[in-house]
Amino acid sequence: EEGWLEGEVAAARREARGVKFNKRRARFLSEAQKVKQGAEGVLYWMSRDQRVQDNWALIYAQSLALEAEVSLHVCFFLEQQLPDATVREYSFIVKGLEEAAKECDALGLQFHLLPGSAGEALPRFVEDWGLGAVVTDFSPLRVSLQQVEEVQKGLPSDVPFMQVDAHNVVPCWVASDKQEYSARTIRGKITKLLPEFLTQFPLVDKHPHCASKPAEVVDWSQVLSGLKLDHSVGEVDWAQPGASAGIAMLESFIDERLKDYAPLRNNPNSEALSQLSPWVHFGHLSAQRAVLQVQRGRSGRAESIPAFVEEAVVRRELADNFCYYNKKYDQVEGASDWARKTLQDHAKDPGPYTYTREQLEKAQTHDKLWNAAQYQMIVEGKMHGFLRMYWAKKILEWTSSPEEALSIAIYLNDRYELDGRDPNGYVGCMWSICGVHDQGWQERAIFGKVRYMNYAGCTRKFNVQEFERRYCPK
Ligand code: FAD
Repeated sequence: EEGWLEGEVAAARREARGVKFNKRRARFLSEAQKVKQGAEGVLYWMSRDQRVQDNWALIYAQSLALEAEVSLHVCFFLEQQLPDATVREYSFIVKGLEEAAKECDALGLQFHLLPGSAGEALPRFVEDWGLGAVVTDFSPLRVSLQQVEEVQKGLPSDVPFMQVDAHNVVPCWVASDKQEYSARTIRGKITKLLPEFLTQFPLVDKHPHCASKPAEVVDWSQVLSGLKLDHSVGEVDWAQPGASAGIAMLESFIDERLKDYAPLRNNPNSEALSQLSPWVHFGHLSAQRAVLQVQRGRSGRAESIPAFVEEAVVRRELADNFCYYNKKYDQVEGASDWARKTLQDHAKDPGPYTYTREQLEKAQTHDKLWNAAQYQMIVEGKMHGFLRMYWAKKILEWTSSPEEALSIAIYLNDRYELDGRDPNGYVGCMWSICGVHDQGWQERAIFGKVRYMNYAGCTRKFNVQEFERRYCPK
């Protein structure tokens, strides 16, 4: 059954059938620019954006396949050896892919779930299947850039290789060609380009050209058990993976929470956030779709809409900008000179408490609010956004160096947050600990000029005890 929003999304998609793909979203990574003559099909190598509809990379791949009158294929690489991979993360991925594979099937696209790493296996797959072009999506993270580079080197020279930024509204490399200082410096650049890029998505439609041989059948019931995963971080029950669950969460946001987003989003006791970050992170939901629907929304205070666009577009795209143009996006060395200097100046300051990574992981600190936030992350896989700042800043205060603090914060964030391993996470930790995208504040111990937060400040903002009671074990 379709809810009103799903109905609205479906209607918006149907209305947008004629919308053309804007070629500025794509860039060539190869010399070859034309689909190879006599090829069997076009391939979309799905990586960061694990959905079928509202996906600019797949929309582009389909337009190429239609023009060349060939079949359309989608592939995803699942590595068997996954360091630090948890059941929480991979059950979300695999279940989302299963839904995407079904949608592909219904649209006449072939879905291939492939073992190994794309860098090694994709060029061979392209040759074996006689494919004539490869389109992929975009992530600024190190592992992804490296895989894209390996694929680029391995592909035959007559097969064009294109990349489409299907995650950002404005393609990362179009928004800016350099590392931006702050939200202030990127906001105007992005806003100016929104009329061009914040458009409806054309539908990925039933594909008229069939492949000449069938794809290998995937037994989805066996995929997860075939992976070596850490079972100590399990699934969460509030967040169902997949594109339709992502749309349903968006629907409930617009219906129930959007009206409170501007006034209450910094209150961890209220239900005012969209809760969309897991689906956006895995690409099950396009942030652009979320923004389009929020802007159409009927209920809601007027000021909540721009507040949401600020987070979902400006802040999120700023995080991609940072990771793309700063190779040290997850290291103290990646911070600005002023921040590195001030942290260095205060590196020897004695702290009030010192905890090990293990104590922090087990929420064994003297601070009940911090422990409660840590429990929220462990149990629910999503810590409230306001508390993430407090949480990371206290790690700086309670460990022996900014380097150690950053590495613990990133370790815990990537291990427990459903939206972890994301540019937003690296930038969030860098903002909290190393002042990235922030300014200098009044100098104090340990933090130097990096912005400070404390417990008393939290008690002035929201009912801290209520939050502690909710999450700390009795
Ligand atoms: P909403 O407020 O409803 O926001 C909607 C969307 O906007 C989010 O889904 C997200 O995509 C984007 N967004 C919101 N806030 C930010 C922000 N500050 N920076 C960039 N994008 C933002 N976000 C992650 O997606 N993954 C992480 O691993 C992550 N780790 C963080 C770690 C720290 C230390 C800090 C300070 C922030 C981190 N954030 C992370 C950013 C932010 O806290 C989360 O995106 C937000 O809490 C997700 O919840 P929501 O979708 O309900 O947020």
